[in-house]
Amino acid sequence: MNAKLGAVKGMNDILPPESAGWEWFEARVRDVMRGYGYQSVRTPIVEPTALFVRSIGEVTDIVEKEMYSFTDSLNGEALTLRPENTAAIVRAAVEHNLLYDGGKRLWYTGPMFRHERPQRGRYRQFHQVGAEALGFPGPDIDAELILLARRLWTVLGLRGLRLEINCLGQADERARHRAKLIAYLEQHAGQLDDDARRRLYSNPLRILDSKNPALQPLLEQAPRLLDELGEDSRAHFDGLQRLLRAAGQDFTINPRLVRGLDYYNLTVFEWVSEHLGAQATVCAGGRYDGLVEQIGGKPAPACGWALGVERVLDLLAQAGRQPAAPAPDAYVVLAHAPALERALQVAEELRAAGMRIVMHAGGGSLKSQMKKADASGARHALIFGEREWLAGEVGVKSLREAGEQQQRSVALQPPALLLEMLMATPA
Ligand code: ATP
Ligand code: MG
Repeated sequence: MNAKLGAVKGMNDILPPESAGWEWFEARVRDVMRGYGYQSVRTPIVEPTALFVRSIGEVTDIVEKEMYSFTDSLNGEALTLRPENTAAIVRAAVEHNLLYDGGKRLWYTGPMFRHERPQRGRYRQFHQVGAEALGFPGPDIDAELILLARRLWTVLGLRGLRLEINCLGQADERARHRAKLIAYLEQHAGQLDDDARRRLYSNPLRILDSKNPALQPLLEQAPRLLDELGEDSRAHFDGLQRLLRAAGQDFTINPRLVRGLDYYNLTVFEWVSEHLGAQATVCAGGRYDGLVEQIGGKPAPACGWALGVERVLDLLAQAGRQPAAPAPDAYVVLAHAPALERALQVAEELRAAGMRIVMHAGGGSLKSQMKKADASGARHALIFGEREWLAGEVGVKSLREAGEQQQRSVALQPPALLLEMLMATPA
């Protein structure tokens, strides 16, 4: 025997029965996106490294230490497995001039890659669903995106997700705040941890969302960006709050909510859950009006969010919602070898009529095949034995209710009586 090969650490196989839950989730997402007029975009999993360095920012967790970057050994290109997808959506929109006739509402789903310490809700390959609205200045669109996420929670049957919002203002407001923040943190330099000290001059805003408990009292008292907002930023933030209230959406303002990525301005928000341990944020997003221009397009405002699929599915499982794949309508039992061709033909006709039919494979006695039929979860066994073969029939046995086996002709095309029987709702 050869030594077993395992999956890469922090990268998961998604197997049955859980894979059915993923499909169910993806179908709900697709419906909700359509309900808001968002169209899907599929971009490559590999992008030029420069795309992420330029958009996410050099002094971020992602670019500093989480990216799977490599050199294409054939042509020397610097490439990266996408750690997130907003930059790629913007790249694609700019590259294909999607905004030539106005704003676009887009969404995506797929795997993302970050070299993090694997733990519950934190993997090296994980999945996101994201919604991005390009070309709209908001705050109506900011509210729409938040309500779109809320609709998704409702459709999925998830309760208890809390909304936090904040406003990061514009560059000049952040610069004013930054100076005050640095001065404040310098006064208390002795209390800073290594991360904070390292970011003090490169990205001090990010110190505000440090999770180090020892830093919390210091950060609570730190100068607030909200106090530096000018009239326009304030109006945007007030507008968003008004729209959320009108839509009956509760929220809390968290002045220390900043995003891990550099490209945000004005609105930022997170949906958080009490039920995910340390990885509490399910969905995070905000406005990034500068990104389109930064990636080489004509300036255009933009807003979006991304949710972590694994975290949402974790919440669904905790809520007892683990949608299973639908059971087969019938399992075909082959008790007489020459009946195989006929059984295949009947199975094809039933599938063409929309039924889920599993064919037995691998031989075995009638008894062992009936056991398999039962274990498959099918409602009926369709039995092709010698007696049926001679009579041009199929035996239909209910696997879920008591009752005699019935015989049905297989001569009709499609076998109408058989179909009728399979489709009848259980008593
Ligand atoms: P965190 O603070 O948890 O590291 P982040 O700020 O890095 O999150 P974003 O880049 O905003 O996260 O990604 C949006 C969402 O994607 C997160 O809220 C989370 O639900 C999910 N997510 C991010 N990183 C991971 C990961 N390594 N594994 C699983 N889900 C993740
Ligand atoms: Mg992170």
